[in-house]
Amino acid sequence: MQSREIRLKSRPVGTPAHENFELADVTLGGLSDGDVMVRNHWMSVDPYMRGRMYDRPSYVPPFAIGEPLQGGAVGEVVESRSPDFAPGDLVSSMFGWREAFVAPGAALEKLPRAGGVPEQAFLGVLGMPGLTAWSGLLEIGKPQPGETVFVSGAAGAVGSVVAQVARIKGCTVVASAGTDEKCDWLRSVGVQHAINYKTCGSLNDAVRAAAPKGINVYFDNVGGEHLEVAIENARPFARFVECGMIANYNDTTPAPGPRNIIQVVGKSLMIRGFIVMEFAALRPQFLSDMMGWIAAGDVKWQETVEEGIARAPDAFIGLFSGANTGKMLVKL
Ligand code: NDP
Repeated sequence: MQSREIRLKSRPVGTPAHENFELADVTLGGLSDGDVMVRNHWMSVDPYMRGRMYDRPSYVPPFAIGEPLQGGAVGEVVESRSPDFAPGDLVSSMFGWREAFVAPGAALEKLPRAGGVPEQAFLGVLGMPGLTAWSGLLEIGKPQPGETVFVSGAAGAVGSVVAQVARIKGCTVVASAGTDEKCDWLRSVGVQHAINYKTCGSLNDAVRAAAPKGINVYFDNVGGEHLEVAIENARPFARFVECGMIANYNDTTPAPGPRNIIQVVGKSLMIRGFIVMEFAALRPQFLSDMMGWIAAGDVKWQETVEEGIARAPDAFIGLFSGANTGKMLVKL
């Protein structure tokens, strides 16, 4: 079978650009015992992939130059030499950035063809970003009814779930995002205070006006100025869930830390980073909660879709300028 894939051509310096990627034709070889051939329907682009484009030690190895990129994908089995898979099965894998692939069955997970939920939801609200939001907020942030939760990057894949789960848990939600349309959507799903951080003037003043008594939980997707503002507005014993710092992912020199970090001591703040894999064992509970909330209409989501493998680099690059509302996806 003929397929196409996106390879890393060179390591980005600063914001990724088209020249860092190349589209290649490949012919998929025959299947060995245990192998499965899959045609991808959807692939995910995620901010964490930027970290894998640096050649440095991290919690996952760097992408190799000249090799196809990797990432979440949902597709359909077209041929199988594994007893566990049959043509037509819906599967998720980490073989994104390619139209089709051959892999051992052990590297795939069979997905339910869930009624009412589109299959690409397994890359977003029911997938890795959803689990990140649910586990980070509930296991680390531990929001209590009546508390105030501040979430940045709130109209994105992770942030939009955090905002809604915090609301479900009885919290007042202060959410920041980069356009008025994103803020309108956040209000439409019950967020009490949505702040356009690009046009609000002083972000610190805007957060203080929204939460005059301060915030109990900060779910950080952004870092930078947002983190400083969260420290400034934190109540004593506030919990900081350090999920991501996208504002710094393309820095060519390390950004200075929060200038007000000294308040961590006086306010007895808890600042805790995490990688979603830490909570992989909680996935059944996450899926049960999330399916229930979706069925009840308590959690909604949005998607931004690019079409075709050739658009995958644009989709990825767009994450850093806020081109997406909700989950950024590529339809293959
Ligand atoms: P998003 O869907 O939120 O997309 C990225 C968004 O970030 C953009 O739409 C943009 O929205 C915002 N953004 C981009 N640049 C900046 C900037 N300089 N300042 C402020 N906002 C910016 O992505 P995800 O939901 O997939 O990921 C959100 C965060 O969670 C990321 O930091 C990611 O790395 C992290 N993450 C961490 C995981 C973990 O295990 N710890 C797992 C998954 C994700 P806007 O228009 O609002 O600016």
